[in-house]
Amino acid sequence: MITIDGSAGEGGGQILRYACALSLITGQPMRVTGIRGGRPKPGLMRQHLTSLEAACTIGTATCEGLAVGSTEIIFHPGKIVPGEYHFAVGTAGSTGLVLQTLLMPLLLADKPSRLVLEGGTHALAAPPFDFTARTLIPILNRMGPQIDARLVRPGFYPRGGGQIEVSVTPAPLRPVSHCERGALQALSAKALYAGIPADIAVREIRCVRSQMGLDEQQVQIEELPPDQGPGNALLLEARFDQVTEIVAGFGQLGVPAEQIAKTAVARMQGYLTSNAVVGPYLADQLLLPFALANGGSFTTVKPSAHSLSAAVIIRQFLGRDCRFVPQSDGRHLMTV
Ligand code: AMP
Repeated sequence: MITIDGSAGEGGGQILRYACALSLITGQPMRVTGIRGGRPKPGLMRQHLTSLEAACTIGTATCEGLAVGSTEIIFHPGKIVPGEYHFAVGTAGSTGLVLQTLLMPLLLADKPSRLVLEGGTHALAAPPFDFTARTLIPILNRMGPQIDARLVRPGFYPRGGGQIEVSVTPAPLRPVSHCERGALQALSAKALYAGIPADIAVREIRCVRSQMGLDEQQVQIEELPPDQGPGNALLLEARFDQVTEIVAGFGQLGVPAEQIAKTAVARMQGYLTSNAVVGPYLADQLLLPFALANGGSFTTVKPSAHSLSAAVIIRQFLGRDCRFVPQSDGRHLMTV
């Protein structure tokens, strides 16, 4: 049995999700100790329970220690059964992160699957739906499989209530190389809001326009029905020939709209000037598929703690090394 220290490195939920996916794919049972030991409130939260329960369902697996607050689990994987599944987090916990647990096992299964996931779709510390759909999935689709994702209803923190649908047609993963972005096709910004004053979205967009020099055609404000709120997300998008980067900011009580916009703009400008293909979040999310493809490479920014932790888990299960080599132009080259 493989033992994973959930408090090592980044010490968050991602270690648990990637380990769970790898346990299902390799058929190796595992024990995870010190779950989320690097977080202020360690242990399983509702959204991690949903991920584990969903993993048990699609993978005919059993899991001991499934309870909110639990810091240790023992996971015995079974056979992955593709099919139609519906999982609900029950809070604003991220649908994108439940998908992070299930996607690779279902991509490598022998038949297609369709998932309906309920919970949050646009909340802090998780990939917003737009990132999953337009940043992550196109690269996975280039590796062979066909994944389609649809936002049925957005869900913001704290209310949740969002829904996404994802269909997955498996295929063997083939290695790809993503070292150059290609030409910039479009830069745009969108502010979504529901059940809060429109002024917040207007101020975010005004600030983004002045800082990034965007014109009226490049920005959009979308009002959602008030019962889908309260909530607000600011999405900055840079579409290149080979990759689309999406940087998100989320409205928070007590944080001025301008501050949310400035932080997002600074992150997007950091990405744009880096000349790397893969931004910091996409990097940790691509390591697992690239390792499972038995090869591949991409240029990226300095590896995050999430990426370094993902690399440790991958080495434990697959014995493959994800290497980040600094380049003379400041980019890092990831090879696996
Ligand atoms: P953890 O903090 O361990 O629960 O992991 C969070 C996961 O969400 C990681 O895979 C991150 O790459 C991803 N993530 C967090 N924030 C964003 C964001 N703004 N855009 C895209 N992915 C994100």
